[in-house]
Amino acid sequence: MTIDVHTLTKQYPLLNQLIALEETAWFNPSITSLEQGLPYVGLDANDVKDASDRLKRFAPYLEQVFPETAKTNGIIESEVVEISAMKRLLEQEYQKPICGRLLLKKDSHLPISGSIKARGGIYEILVLAETLAIEAGLLSKSDDYSKLDSDAFRDFFSQYSVAVGSTGNLGMSIGIISAKLGFSVSVHMSADAKEWKKNKLRSNGVNVVEYEQDYGVAVAQGRKEAGKDPNCFFIDDENSRSLFLGYSVAGERLKQQFVDSGVQVDAEHPLFVYLPCGVGGGPGGVAFGLKLAFGDHVHCIFAEPTHSPCMLLGVHTQLHDEISVQDIGIDNITAADGLAVGRASGFVGRAMERLLDGYLTISDQRMYRLLGQLNQSESIQLEPSALAGMIGPVILASASDYMERMQFSPDKMNNATHLVWATGGGMVPEEEMASYLAKSGI
Ligand SMILES: *Cc1c(COP(=O)(O)O)cnc(C)c1O
Repeated sequence: MTIDVHTLTKQYPLLNQLIALEETAWFNPSITSLEQGLPYVGLDANDVKDASDRLKRFAPYLEQVFPETAKTNGIIESEVVEISAMKRLLEQEYQKPICGRLLLKKDSHLPISGSIKARGGIYEILVLAETLAIEAGLLSKSDDYSKLDSDAFRDFFSQYSVAVGSTGNLGMSIGIISAKLGFSVSVHMSADAKEWKKNKLRSNGVNVVEYEQDYGVAVAQGRKEAGKDPNCFFIDDENSRSLFLGYSVAGERLKQQFVDSGVQVDAEHPLFVYLPCGVGGGPGGVAFGLKLAFGDHVHCIFAEPTHSPCMLLGVHTQLHDEISVQDIGIDNITAADGLAVGRASGFVGRAMERLLDGYLTISDQRMYRLLGQLNQSESIQLEPSALAGMIGPVILASASDYMERMQFSPDKMNNATHLVWATGGGMVPEEEMASYLAKSGI
């Protein structure tokens, strides 16, 4: 399909802001209740429960082979922390009060691969391993899965290979877990992938294939390679429902964390969650899980770099994966690893658009500045992409049309919880972090 930019911008004037690389926010005028929106997702609470149960079956295995998961008994989960010093800093910098509390979800520090991909990426490979082993009669769902940590299982999985295209973090998660189980695994990496991530993968026994082009090309090549070999499984980040479900389990887990720490979410205590978005599976899956856990009291907002606003573009024009940011002259070049995606997932936008409150874009420069500010105020170090949502509470504070339409009174907003989803950075080497901080100007 050819895109006529002139006609499209006439129909959707907001695109002019995207094309000019201006920071933009768009609140969904057609948001519906969970009840109305859920049928369009094509997945439901039973699917999330299935994923949650599968992760519990694998917990004894994960605890054994990744000792860093021992303190959560083999469950890959991150903590939530309050960042009130950062909240004060934001209020000062932007001269606007942020009503309610500001919390950070530290998926940046998830065990095994140090990013949100430790949810979906690892889960997807566990689905594959379990399916193969059960079909071969080697495993049953009632077994203690720590038996997978054996030469017999590693030999069995070594007959199969796994291929994935990645800008970095997905490759890290898929690569590390696949190699650990015994699969032969290739990660096809785009030009923007960081050297240290490639090195870490190689040291874990992963075959790294490098490309000079962007993510789309790495994915296409990976898919082509895998197509030649019937024993090779290609992990399709753009369309995978199992990745999506791996992420969705975050909803019920967060709900429990909030119960444990006394954070209230209900009609009078709204929860706003700001999620960095690349292809959409991570934030889409998490948002789906959050909606099932908190119903209409949670409000999800996706955040993308000004140079890679693929989800905002796809949903706003209703063209979804039939349009790329390059089609409207945007270069898809950003320092935000994992967010440098020019074309959104084929299913996440279509499935989730009715349940998402809004979308915002942020410049690389501001992500760096927020990175420095979070380090300064809270001593928490993240990678630039993980800061994409940090501007969300500031944007919301001036979004009076949205506030009015949604009937968020000042009283309600004083009870609000803002949760910024920090998606990566826990494994960034010190020198790399120092260079991020240098670029922050803080
Ligand atoms: C992958 C990634 C995201 C977004 O996930 P998608 O599924 O691509 O939308 C956000 N932040 C980081 C650090 C990531 O690696």
